[in-house]
Amino acid sequence: MTQEQASVITIFGGSGDLARRKLYPALFQLYRHGILHDHFAVIGTARRPWTNEYYRDVIATSLEGEAGAVSDSVHAFASHFYYQSHDVTDADHYVTLRKLSAQLDDKYSAGGNRLFYMAMAPQFFGIIASHIRSEQLLSASGYNRLVIEKPFGHDFDSAKELNDSINSAFDEDQIYRIDHYLGKEMVQSLMAIRFGNPVFKPIWNRDYVDNVQITLAEAVGVEERAGYYETAGALRDMVQNHIMQLIAYVAMPEPESLTPAAVHQAKRSILESLKPLTTAQAADNFVRGQYVGDTPDQRDYVQEDGVAADSKTETFVAGRIELTDSAWTGVPFYVRTGKHMTRKSTQITVNFKPTEHNIFAPVGCPDLSGNSLTIFVEPEEGYRLVVNSKQLGQDYHVGQFPLNFRHTANEIANAPEAYEHLIQDALAGNQTNFTRWHELKATWQYVDKIREAWDASPDMPTYESGSMGPSASDDLLAKYGDSWSWDGSAND
Ligand code: NAD
Repeated sequence: MTQEQASVITIFGGSGDLARRKLYPALFQLYRHGILHDHFAVIGTARRPWTNEYYRDVIATSLEGEAGAVSDSVHAFASHFYYQSHDVTDADHYVTLRKLSAQLDDKYSAGGNRLFYMAMAPQFFGIIASHIRSEQLLSASGYNRLVIEKPFGHDFDSAKELNDSINSAFDEDQIYRIDHYLGKEMVQSLMAIRFGNPVFKPIWNRDYVDNVQITLAEAVGVEERAGYYETAGALRDMVQNHIMQLIAYVAMPEPESLTPAAVHQAKRSILESLKPLTTAQAADNFVRGQYVGDTPDQRDYVQEDGVAADSKTETFVAGRIELTDSAWTGVPFYVRTGKHMTRKSTQITVNFKPTEHNIFAPVGCPDLSGNSLTIFVEPEEGYRLVVNSKQLGQDYHVGQFPLNFRHTANEIANAPEAYEHLIQDALAGNQTNFTRWHELKATWQYVDKIREAWDASPDMPTYESGSMGPSASDDLLAKYGDSWSWDGSAND
């Protein structure tokens, strides 16, 4: 159902990469679909002294190639955008912003609603929030919401400090912390798969699941992000947020309803049941690695621009995670992520236990495999369920057969992109697909222990670019009699 949302949206970091590549295209699609229409204005802020006209040209350029981006609609859309040169540390600049917001609210009848979007380096999040409060940018007549990008801190202490500072201006129910994985179609479909299918619902637990695997593989290297990546590494960049959120959706109990509170409560119960690690256990259960390569496109990580020659930043992580939740005790969640891996793909595989009683053993099938369900999150979007069945022929041989479904490229292209989903949710006041403080608290505390173990050891295995990571990652699973589930073909 299309319902127009009225708002004055202020984007801090309006000239940045995220704004141009993700936010403006997403806002345009919302405009195309009538969610933003007459009663909205966008104020872009950054340090540069741009005019409104120049800013609108930037908006138009960022929409090149977007579906529906014909000249008239782009022009009409861009006319709602205003630029305000802004230094985040200068209190007077917030006063200017407040006045501009009020003017635009009057002009577009935006109902006193304010959406503040922090699309800037995280060190500025706290100072912006405190100025929003002290310079009274919060509206008294409509809603006030804060959308905040990742990374949310770089460890538990910094995350808490950031949280405290944004809490000085915004309550938890006004804060929309982005983890863009939660805007992805196949992540949102996890609840439908789990709770909409009697065929899966009763067996989605430790009695029937042998192990769960999550791989977030990237084909690219660090690209131009070395400045940030050197301070983060794969553990903080991918595990603390995206992978932990996927674990929460795979393992959470059925929420009482689809309300944000019920879904968050279910997720929280899982993230707070991450089995605590000692430093020694963290070292045993987690493997890191750094890519090496000898082509101009795939050099050693330490040769990349902006990377220290002696960098100890990991570009790959694999780990074995356990939950104390009674539905999952003893079930390993194997996770891995890395740069310069074989191909870009995010896959979640639930490996079920084989049937206990095998009546086919006497006819030459001593080892029946368990079923497995793979959810392809991106770039392919779909499922594969592997079942046992009889192979054709006179003999009674049981083999494995994949049942495959993929959304078509056309369907994927026409579905909303993650940022479109998430900004629409924020405008509608739906916090379901945003992360809450208790989730971040639990995941940072878990991840900090791994960091602590690694910081105490100089060991940094390498892996060939274009591979699936260091051999230690395979060894980690082999130790438990397991191996990685992975579909290496783009179109199965
Ligand atoms: P960017 O460096 O491209 O843009 C930063 C913006 O902040 C620019 O508009 C710049 O002018 C502005 N700015 C910097 N210092 C300022 C100051 N003192 N006062 C006022 N404005 C100032 O960064 P980005 O890649 O767009 O990332 C923004 C945020 O989004 C970061 O938190 C990043 O981690 C997050 N993020 C980005 C991406 C991405 O794809 N780019 C993906 C996920 C998360």
